[in-house]
Amino acid sequence: MQPMPYTIKFPAGAVQYLYGPLSAIDGLSGDREIIVITDTNIAALYPELEKRYRVIAIPPGEVHKNQHTADDIIESLLEMEAHRKTTLVGIGGGLVTDITGYVASIYMRGIPYGFVPTTLLGMVDAAIGGKNGINHRLQKNLIGTINQPGFILYDTTFLKTLPDEEWSNGFAEVIKYGCIFDKSLFDTLSEHNIDYYKQGNTIDGIIQMCVSWKNQTVVADEKEKGRRKLLNFGHTAGHALEILYGLPHGQAVGIGMVIACIVSEKLNGLDKNMLLALKAQLKKYNLRTYLNINTTEVMEVLRMDKKRNGDQIDYITLNQIGESIITTMAFDIIEEALTTFSNAGDN
Ligand code: ADP
Ligand code: ZN
Repeated sequence: MQPMPYTIKFPAGAVQYLYGPLSAIDGLSGDREIIVITDTNIAALYPELEKRYRVIAIPPGEVHKNQHTADDIIESLLEMEAHRKTTLVGIGGGLVTDITGYVASIYMRGIPYGFVPTTLLGMVDAAIGGKNGINHRLQKNLIGTINQPGFILYDTTFLKTLPDEEWSNGFAEVIKYGCIFDKSLFDTLSEHNIDYYKQGNTIDGIIQMCVSWKNQTVVADEKEKGRRKLLNFGHTAGHALEILYGLPHGQAVGIGMVIACIVSEKLNGLDKNMLLALKAQLKKYNLRTYLNINTTEVMEVLRMDKKRNGDQIDYITLNQIGESIITTMAFDIIEEALTTFSNAGDN
């Protein structure tokens, strides 16, 4: 059973959530014309998109999440004579939804838009929360807006074509929600593994749980002054590893969560079995638990983190699985944990 549509009111706008087939977007835009923004992979896999809508297909990949691509989209919108009553619908992963939200927020000072996330990561994380933007050559996600889409439609049949690596990227975020908010979600994940879900067993309940956690967090703190920071669990060290070693986001966050558990053991006395449970969980979802790192190099990148606060950083730790806290801590504590992580090797 699909849930009924519901609306969540964020400070930056109300978002309608719907679960059902893609065709439902026609009813959402009223009599406004839809222009779809997607990437060329999705356009090729789902040719019906171009049969039903006017489509702007951008090249896939994080390297294209920049002002140049945004300008290309704006040029196409001008050619298509898009106006304030056109609805832009971003159909794709985080790249597509981020850039669609950004362009829709600035084109003619803002036009209506909605999202249809097609990756697990997009469904549980990237499409939700109103952060839209692009990378600058000097820094990721430097440029953007906080602006909410009018709707997010969940059509999980898109997951049938999702590449293996993208399943793991998404599950890293799902495991994160289990760790920071929801022990029972963590336990549900332990009952199965990535193949179980890839084979088509329903993942809808899990997605809906994650959507609900993210919404509750963003409603309470859209601008990330407090509670929303909890969503950065695993992402502080994770981002550094992503930049330094070119790991996919999910793989980097997986290792970042392992490091955060080591910090939690030192700081909060987190039970050692929690780290073992996390590692077992990551393995079930084809996520790595270890990487040979250069601690000095990682610390250099961490010290450049834009969320740094002098010699300290807001870092997310666990008291136990399902219970997380924000701690402002000295970089030395993270350095010590990285050394412990390195010395422990892959066990
Ligand atoms: P995210 O930020 O959500 O991880 P991206 O937007 O970078 O994702 O997309 C990751 C890759 O997956 C891209 O190459 C994209 O074209 C592809 N992709 C997205 N959704 C699907 C899907 N449903 N089926 C197949 N490939 C997809
Ligand atoms: Zn993430």
